[in-house]
This record gives sequence, C-alpha cells and structure tokens, in this order.
Amino acid sequence: MTGARGLRPDLDLGVALQRRTYANAAYLASRLPLGLLYFTVLVTMAMLGFSLLSVAVGVVVLAGTLAVAWGFAHFERRLTRWWLGVEIGPISLPAPPGESVWRRVRAHLTSAVTWKSLAFVMLQMPLGIVVFALQMAFLGAAFALFFSPALYLAATLGRPGADQPFNAPLLALSSAANGFQLSGLATAVGLCVAGAGLFLITLHGMNALAAGWGAAARQMLSLSESELRFAEARLQAAAEHARAEQADESRRELVANVSHELRTPIASIQAHVESLTSPEGAPPSPADTQRYLNVIARETERLSSLVDDLLAVAGADAGGLRLTTGPVDIGEVVEQVHSTLAPIARRERRVALVKSLPEGPLPPAFADRDRLLQVLMNLVRNAVAYTAEGGIVSIEAAEDGGRVRVSVSDTGIGIPPEDLRRVFERFYRADASRARSTGGFGLGLSVARDLIEAMKGTITAESEVGVGSRFTVWLVAIPAEAA
Ligand code: ADP
Repeated sequence: MTGARGLRPDLDLGVALQRRTYANAAYLASRLPLGLLYFTVLVTMAMLGFSLLSVAVGVVVLAGTLAVAWGFAHFERRLTRWWLGVEIGPISLPAPPGESVWRRVRAHLTSAVTWKSLAFVMLQMPLGIVVFALQMAFLGAAFALFFSPALYLAATLGRPGADQPFNAPLLALSSAANGFQLSGLATAVGLCVAGAGLFLITLHGMNALAAGWGAAARQMLSLSESELRFAEARLQAAAEHARAEQADESRRELVANVSHELRTPIASIQAHVESLTSPEGAPPSPADTQRYLNVIARETERLSSLVDDLLAVAGADAGGLRLTTGPVDIGEVVEQVHSTLAPIARRERRVALVKSLPEGPLPPAFADRDRLLQVLMNLVRNAVAYTAEGGIVSIEAAEDGGRVRVSVSDTGIGIPPEDLRRVFERFYRADASRARSTGGFGLGLSVARDLIEAMKGTITAESEVGVGSRFTVWLVAIPAEAA
C-alpha cells in the first residue's frame, strides 16, 4: 500500500459511500487545529528560549522546544499511521546500550529525520489553512449549487418579490437560464447535478490530498534507508563493544578466582611435602607418611580437575568448545559412569550408586561421548559429595518426547531455591564453606551447561532442601534410521 486507503483514480460515485473518504476528509480537517496547536506551542517556546539565550536557561528552553517537537512528530506519525493507514518506517532506533547522553544528543541533532520531522510539524498549520479554505470553498460551492433550487423555491414561495437580498444571485441564475431558454425544472435539475458533481470531485480531491499527505509523512517522519543502515551498524558496533568488555571483565574475574582457588591446594601440597622432606622433629611414621601422600594425591587430583574445567571455560569463552559430536549410545555411557564411580562412592562415602536403564533399546543421542561422560561423572561426583552416609544416588536414562533424558538424583542435603537459580554460574557455590569441604571450585555445573548446550541439549536442576536434588540432561535423540 503506497497511499491513503481507499484512493480510487476513477471518478466513481461510490467514493461518496466509502467511510474511508470521510475519514480522509476528517484527517485533512484536523490539520488546521492540530497545526495551530503545534505552531503556537513551538513558536512560543522557541521565542522564549531565544529571548533567554543570554542566560543559560534559554538553552534549556530551546532544548525543551526540540524535545516537544520530537514528541509532536511521534504523535503525528502514530496518528497518520492509524488514521490514514499509511505504513511509516521507524522514526528512530533505540540508542546502543551504554552510549553516553552527549553522544545520543549529538546523534539526534545530526540526524536528518530530526529536522525533517520538525518541518513536517511546523508545516501543518500553513498547509492546514490552505486545505481548510479549499475544503470550505469547494464544499460550500457544491452545497450551494445543490440546494439553490430548493432555496429559490423557498424564497419565492415564502416571500414573493425580488427585493430580498439573498434572492438576487438565484434570480440572476434563473434569468441566465432563461437566456439559454431552459425551463425552470431543467435549471433546477442542472444545478443539482452540478452541485453533486462538484461534491464528488471535491471528495476525490480530498482523497488524493490525503494520499499525498500520507506520502509526505512517510518521507519526513521516518529514517531514510541509509540512516537506518547507519543506526543498525551503530547498534551492532555497540553490542560488539559490550560483548568485548564483558569478556574482558569475565576474564579478569576468572584470573582473580583462579589464583585464589589455586592457592589453597598448592599451600596444602607444599605443607605436606615439607613435612615429608624436611621434618622439624623425628621423621614421620609410615602411617603419617601414607596420610600425607594421600592428601597430596587428593589435592593434585583437585588441581588437575580445576585445570580441566578451566580449559573447558576458556574454550567456551573463545567462542567454541571443540566437540566431536555424533550418535552416542547413552546406555553404554551410563554403564561406564556407574562402574567407575559406584565402588568409590561405596568405599569413600558409603553411598549406594544405582543405575536404571529402559528394558528396550534407547535411541542414540546427539552428543560428544567423552564430554558427556565428563558431565555425568561431574553430576554423580557432586551427588555423592552432597549426600550423607547411607544415602542413595541414582543415574537413570530414558527416551522422553523425542529426546533422551539422563537424570542424576540423590537423597542428599538439597539446594535452597535462591541458590538453585545460580548453581550454573561460574564459581558459584551454594554454601562456600560447605562446598569447600567437598573440594569443589563452583565450576563443574557451569562447564556442564556449556558442554551440554554445545551439544544442542539442555540441563536442568530440581532440588528440595533435606530431600535431595535431581540434575537432568536432555539430549536430541537421533532416529534409528538416521543414526
Ligand atoms: P563444585 O565444584 O563446587 O561442586 P559445581 O558447579 O559442580 O561446583 O556446583 C555448584 C554448587 O552447587 C556446589 O558448590 C553445591 O553447593 C551445589 N550442588 C551441586 N550439586 C549438588 C547436589 N547434588 N546436591 C547439593 N548441592 C549441590
């Protein structure tokens, strides 16, 4: 649609029956009062601003004038779209986040649409006067012609005589008609037809004018193609900048956290190694030596798992975890997790690790086998770590609505709701003191989420304090024929 609705190029009679025609006429009639309002407000404010320019407040008033004009332009854009049904592009785009007020003001002042829209608003009054005068003149003439025979009749029947001043033009018309030797009836019919014709022409004219008005609004109240491209480029550049800053910030945070987290196991290793290599008193007994070596082994393992997690975090930050994805037999992965961790859980924490797989075959899932194994190991290690002696941890896989679901549930201490929302954040530990005793760094779940999302899956967590937790990994199932 390129112009006002309902514009018909041919001079048909239907134009008089269309609601759109009268809506267009009313829109044109509204130009004068609205134009007067805009003009009065803006000129008054501008004059006030200029007269106060010697004091700083004048600048503020002038800025306010521009802001009010901008508001009027927005209003006109909405009104024209709604009333004339014209499509008008955006008048502005949201400022890039974080852009300074000064840059925004400068961008606004240097944008062509700012001044074009001001011109549009200011032109409403002078053009409104012209349109109003034309409407009045044409409609007045059309009505006068159409109703003149009736008026003539009323005047001559009611008060016979040619001395009535308003009868004069009618009598003149009548005598002119007589000059053409037309009968009174033919004159009356001719005048009515001329009046109706002029009315139709006026309606068509108003439709054309409204279409022109709509086209002008489209031009003056929206960003041009090149301005739109420029504004989009600015937004994109600002988004890139914000992303780079965020990455920088998270790198700084990571370095600070990592240094902190490394210090604890390293200090512990150093202390135990020192006790072994240069004991202060008598050399440690074989039992103590074994105990120190166990501590060193555990802390070394912690450090190595931190490094693994950090490598995954660095990969995710660099914008791509390198995964080797393909169809994976989930049952087999679950078996491996179970056979690796069940003896450790039983021996070290007296926790039973049970597995549950469907009777029939599971469809293969789209995943990276080794990374999925890493995630499930992590979930089970967490579940075992946060479950008291005698508790149960279960790992279960099933097909669920076109996806493969693997859940790790425990009967452990649970996670309070306010922490549950944040457990997938980096370095987040529900209870730092509690988690520190289990040896976690608060990275495992954030790495798990990065990895699972890179496999186009999702990971969710449910928990109730004192009852237990369930972490569920959802993976895309590959239909048997595609696998
Ligand atoms: P961490 O290495 O500290 O375990 P994670 O990212 O794996 O880090 O977990 C984040 C936090 O979520 C943990 O510190 C712990 O507070 C909580 N959490 C994770 N799994 C469980 C669970 N099964 N039961 C209770 N709390 C858990």
